[in-house]
Amino acid sequence: MKNVSADAINALKAQCRGEVLLRDDAGYEAARQIWNGMFDRLPGIIVRCVGTGDVIKAVNFGRDHELLISVKGGGHNSAGNAVCDDGLMIDLSLMRRVNVDPKKKTLRVDGGALLGDMDDESQLYGLAVSGGGIISHTGVGGLTLGGGFGWISRKHGLAIDNLISAEVVTSDGKLLTASAGENPELFWGLRGGGGNFGIVTSFVFKCVAIGPEVYSGLIVKKFEDAKEYIKFHRDYVRTLPDDMTVWMVVRHAPPLPFLPNEVHGKMVVVVPFVWLGNEAEGKAFIKPIQEATPSHGEAFGMNPWVGWQSGFDGLVGHGARNYWKSHHIKGLSDDCIDKIIAFGDTMPSPECEIFIPHMEGAPSHVPADETAFSYRETPFVLNIHTRWQNPSDDKRCIAWARDFHAATEPFAKGVYVNFLSEEGEGRVKEAYTEAVWERLVQVKQKYDPQNLFRMNQNIKP
Ligand SMILES: Cc1cc2nc3c(=O)[nH]c(=O)nc-3n(C[C@H](O)[C@H](O)[C@H](O)COP(=O)(O)OP(=O)(O)OC[C@H]3O[C@@H](n4cnc5c(N)ncnc54)[C@H](O)[C@@H]3O)c2cc1C
Repeated sequence: MKNVSADAINALKAQCRGEVLLRDDAGYEAARQIWNGMFDRLPGIIVRCVGTGDVIKAVNFGRDHELLISVKGGGHNSAGNAVCDDGLMIDLSLMRRVNVDPKKKTLRVDGGALLGDMDDESQLYGLAVSGGGIISHTGVGGLTLGGGFGWISRKHGLAIDNLISAEVVTSDGKLLTASAGENPELFWGLRGGGGNFGIVTSFVFKCVAIGPEVYSGLIVKKFEDAKEYIKFHRDYVRTLPDDMTVWMVVRHAPPLPFLPNEVHGKMVVVVPFVWLGNEAEGKAFIKPIQEATPSHGEAFGMNPWVGWQSGFDGLVGHGARNYWKSHHIKGLSDDCIDKIIAFGDTMPSPECEIFIPHMEGAPSHVPADETAFSYRETPFVLNIHTRWQNPSDDKRCIAWARDFHAATEPFAKGVYVNFLSEEGEGRVKEAYTEAVWERLVQVKQKYDPQNLFRMNQNIKP
């Protein structure tokens, strides 16, 4: 690697408590892997940090040697930004400690923890962090810095709406606390602006009481009735209280035990839900969904919260090829529904999904200037999860995603930064309103004027 002598690497090894790995070292191959199998990048050096001290040393090393730096939290982001070619990968995946304060109902979590770490520990006290995603192997770091929504965010807010403070290593190697009272502009930017301003080594969240069981489950609708069902769904879910979250996934049916064998692999509309009240009330809200159109099958009841939070992990395991496109949808108009069904009909692989979460609720009640997360009023997200195994299918699958995205562009306004692929600066801007973008640029100028942290959905200083 240019700019870096063997002596400098040996000095870094001597300073760090965690491993410093080069290409031939044992552990290098495993450490450079990320969730999206499309990326096969080879960092020059990987620092596997075990604490904030290591992060500071790695940042100083990368800056002083003018290396491209990538930061790996959970390594889940479909854009592949956690890993770089040739430069320095700062790997936080060994930093996964969670400490719960049950009296204050708060939780402190390391910057490399996964959502499952947070759920497991907080549930010991009957608590959870709202906005903490739906797949337990997603990283807390990337998810939170982009916003973070999940099954209970309609009721209790995005992850950033529950963030109390963060410890951040900035590009000059300083350790700062960001909160409403300390470095408030940095705190504002961290809540939606991604990893642009520094490396977060720990987050402190407010928790909410939940579980140990929640009324939840799945209803699987017939694809031939998709138009009728989705029309019902778009109106009905918007009338529901914030304690009820009902989403929709158009996909090939997984081999779920409650579905007849002949349905496995057929196109279906899956309707998963979580209800935070008692079972009897929940049943009454679900009945109209059951009755809207015929179902292939259904399975719901009281389920352990932690089990529900990891129940879908197997559908999106590590290593497959993924190309995701997304936007916020102003409303599911009849024309938009027609496009969804048409592209559902031509889905290029059995692992693809059209995922349509309903977002309104607590997130929409937070004032627009409170955080850098824009478009809080969006009713629905339209996520095109294109996923396949064989590189020979790349062209066909990517083309499907792009065509579908273009066809639904007329119904869109904005995008969630965490669902962007590598799409260029113009698209990053679309994640924010103009006022938010200008303010983000100012925060970047203050905390990372050299754009040291640029392997991300980048905001140039
Ligand atoms: C299967 C799947 C399910 C998902 N479900 C949800 C969901 O339910 N809700 C939701 O809101 N999002 C969801 N997402 C999107 C998810 O929030 C993003 O992919 C997020 O970036 C993942 O964070 P990570 O730490 O795992 O990723 P990484 O790839 O490690 O990081 C993503 C970006 O954040 C930066 N970063 C990560 N950690 C830190 C840190 N500690 N400090 C500074 N920068 C950091 C990285 O440098 C990179 O630029 C999902 C994604 C996938 C693939």
